Amino acid sequence: MMNYPVITLRRGKEESLKRFHPWVFSGAIDRLPDSIEEGDTVEVRASDGTPLGVGHFQIGSIAVRMLDKNVIEIDEGFYASRLTDALRLRMALGLIRGDNNAYRLVHGEGDFLPGLIVDVYGSTAVLQAHSPGMHYARNVIARALVSLPGAGLKNVYYKSETTLPYKASLDPQNDYIIGEYDTNIAVENGLKLHVDWLKGQKTGFFVDQRDNRMLLQKYAAGRRVLNMFCYTGGFSVYALRGGAELVHSVDSSAKAVALTRDNVRLNFGDTAPHEAFAEDAFKFLGDMPDGAYDLVVLDPPAFAKHRGAIHNALRGYQKLNARAMEKMPKGSILFTFSCSQAISKEQFRLAVFSAAAQTGRNVRILHQLTQPADHPINIYHPEGEYLKGLILYIE
Ligand code: SAH
Repeated sequence: MMNYPVITLRRGKEESLKRFHPWVFSGAIDRLPDSIEEGDTVEVRASDGTPLGVGHFQIGSIAVRMLDKNVIEIDEGFYASRLTDALRLRMALGLIRGDNNAYRLVHGEGDFLPGLIVDVYGSTAVLQAHSPGMHYARNVIARALVSLPGAGLKNVYYKSETTLPYKASLDPQNDYIIGEYDTNIAVENGLKLHVDWLKGQKTGFFVDQRDNRMLLQKYAAGRRVLNMFCYTGGFSVYALRGGAELVHSVDSSAKAVALTRDNVRLNFGDTAPHEAFAEDAFKFLGDMPDGAYDLVVLDPPAFAKHRGAIHNALRGYQKLNARAMEKMPKGSILFTFSCSQAISKEQFRLAVFSAAAQTGRNVRILHQLTQPADHPINIYHPEGEYLKGLILYIE
């Protein structure tokens, strides 16, 4: 028998766990044992004592992130088995190939490992903990990662300085847990990309736009492309490969602009029809001449980082999209995204509708986009859906 601290729920509060939702909110808890520490693995029981499974305990609104509906041992074998399942899915998706070695191996609840993100770039895994429990398990997880048959992982970089609950005072240091820096060049659909996991945002690169970048490539031939919020220039290199007449990349961060230039040079040398600008999006869109671009990508950072920010975020999306639409020539194409988890696809679409109505343009939806399959959504955890996008035809 496993000997975990036991958390008992209030009467009737077991319902969501019975529907396999992976979180226990603090308000559902009747009794906490005295000897409980943040990050502990705990057993959860219904008020009548029925076991409901095991999870990681933390202090906050989400009190337990469930790891299994049975009371099982959470050890290296557990992590190895979940990681094996995660890898099997990525193999089935065809993401691990000579010309593609950048993918998300673990998408938290979507891979039944709540609180854990693992992105892979070649032989390096970048591990990100969002819960104290995963923070304490980091060495065990790292060992399981480098032992995973078929994954070819040698190095594990831990990057949780900004993702763990601030109040937990865990003082996570960003560093290699196993191995060391080898190369930072990842390959996505045959395109080479410098990934800066040491200093870059999130795990260093946004693998979640892979499929959408491929779609952009299909539309790029002969077009004048604006890649707004370019970060590492992912969309820019696909547009160039697709035969764009010119590509302009914009980001307010000078480092992002430098990274984009590097990535263009890495794939196309110095002669590609590409320029990058370190400028604020609203300023750039305000100053750009009418009709300058007939293919525009708007992929801003999350405008709403929490529920309280939704109203302002929706106004932000409306304004941004209206600024772009009003200057796009007839017959042009707009790729527009929101990665705010707190905003639903209906709300985002309404914001884009308002932008269209404000400019009076004829706008048709060509594609409705979402996150790729290596960011799976656990059907019992709809909160796992965050990326949404629209490809619009503007007349
Ligand atoms: N499209 C990128 C990801 C974008 S992440 C990709 O495919 O990888 C969001 C980017 O927006 C960041 O690089 C950030 O530096 C930039 N950014 C944030 N605020 C901005 C602003 N006001 N104007 C321009 N860029 C901004």
